[in-house]
Amino acid sequence: MSVPHYLLHIDGSWVDTDDRYEIHSPATDELVATVAKGGVAEVDAAVAAAKAAHDSGVWRNTPPAERAALIDVVATRLAGRIDELAALQSRENGVTIRVTGALHVGLSIAQMQYLAAQAAKYEFEKAGPAIGPVPAEGILRREPLGVVAAIVPWNIPLLVTVWKVAPALAAGNTVVLKPDEHAPLLALELMKEFEAAGLPAGVLNVVVGDGDDVGAHLSAHPDVRKVAFTGSTSVGKSILGASADTMKRVTLELGGKGPNIILDDADLDVAIDGSIFACMANNGQACEAGTRLLVPALRRDEIVDRLVARIQTMKIGDPTDPATDIGPIITGEQRDRVLERIQQAQTDGAKIAVGGGAPSGDGFERGNWVEPTVLVDVTNDMDIARQEVFGPVLTVLTYETVDEAIAIANDTDYGLSAGVWGADEAQTLDVARRLEAGMVYINDWHVIHPMYPFGGYKQSGLGREGGPDALDEYTEQKYISIDRSGGVENKAYALVLGTPS
Ligand code: NAD
Repeated sequence: MSVPHYLLHIDGSWVDTDDRYEIHSPATDELVATVAKGGVAEVDAAVAAAKAAHDSGVWRNTPPAERAALIDVVATRLAGRIDELAALQSRENGVTIRVTGALHVGLSIAQMQYLAAQAAKYEFEKAGPAIGPVPAEGILRREPLGVVAAIVPWNIPLLVTVWKVAPALAAGNTVVLKPDEHAPLLALELMKEFEAAGLPAGVLNVVVGDGDDVGAHLSAHPDVRKVAFTGSTSVGKSILGASADTMKRVTLELGGKGPNIILDDADLDVAIDGSIFACMANNGQACEAGTRLLVPALRRDEIVDRLVARIQTMKIGDPTDPATDIGPIITGEQRDRVLERIQQAQTDGAKIAVGGGAPSGDGFERGNWVEPTVLVDVTNDMDIARQEVFGPVLTVLTYETVDEAIAIANDTDYGLSAGVWGADEAQTLDVARRLEAGMVYINDWHVIHPMYPFGGYKQSGLGREGGPDALDEYTEQKYISIDRSGGVENKAYALVLGTPS
């Protein structure tokens, strides 16, 4: 059966290459699509096109309201295709369709609409306050940076792409986008919509390629002014290092090991389901997942029993079926890594309360599966509590006092998300204020919203995406001073040179 073949997009043209990726469904191994595989030459061509488009002024001199309107048009076009795109995403990366519909595509559209509205009223140039003691007038400008490299992972590809591409374009930059080689299809669908909406050639270019050559070459390219990266902390560090040479701006959205605290008075009817959602949404492959569940020692058995009972009711299987709760892991290699991490945790002293292996039988003959797993007797020094697993694996730790819970929660190299469940709002707020994380959820999780910034403390990243300041991250500030001294004696230089007698 023939499947669609996707091309790269460089300088306004769709470009094929000699080599190609095969995109297989992680649930069934079926071939979903083939994609042209880019290399260093395609990156160079894309950066050259983006630089030429920037230098020509074709996009940065387009009035901001027109740029914003074009982004809004693309959002509307995506909204007309939401079911189709959600299904394609589920087939491509195995994330369940309720999540791809609401989070991957739905939130991407909302994010674009919010950004378009922000961009339409953004002050790209405004008069600053009068300057003294030297009489002068100030102007504050926000100018595009130039060529932005956007590098994204496979787990929530469209949203992570939109978080970068939409503010970059709204601010007047040009972009080279490198989707992840395992899940590039929605980025290429997005490119089709930008082209259909009339985006000029060279303003947005898409090169699919491997991380260690194409990604590394793009992120170190001398003509790239900013790298906006989402992915693992180790690659984020290498990008930060490579940026030093040409002093690139960087935004890094990296890993997490989110602590999730159930307080003594929490309503378990919501905290149990909520904690499973916190960890296992997106098949457990989410950076801001709540993967370290901290429970009061006295309530530990009750909480674990209820987690196990609830997880046993969950439907694992076909990600395109709306009844499915948990789908597969992105690749067989990553599935093996998750299972090894569970094994290692047991060697370190953890015990399995539920799951722990790969499901078998009908529907699981093909694909990359891991049972939703709860590990108990975990302590915060174990590797399973310190490093991301990126699979449906929840670790349960106990605490005696709230102060101890907060200390354990903050004892991590990461700081992306955190959460707290409790009945006393003053107490949950106090805990939330003391947690070292970019996003803290009270009595829910994954409440990502276009109006609020997304990003992390510590080694979870640098900078923020979305939120009210998203465009600031894609502009340089410029101050222009205009002399209003009215006479030589009042000019700044007169302080040093004096005035002619
Ligand atoms: P990864 O770092 O291996 O890959 C991410 C992207 O970077 C891919 O496009 C890849 O091709 C590219 N890449 C790989 N090596 C590169 C290099 N040397 N130079 C430049 N680019 C390179 O990440 P992954 O394991 O595929 O994705 C999962 C990771 O992403 C997890 O750590 C997760 O926490 C993180 N993530 C973070 C966020 C966030 O917003 N904080 C969101 C989603 C995922």
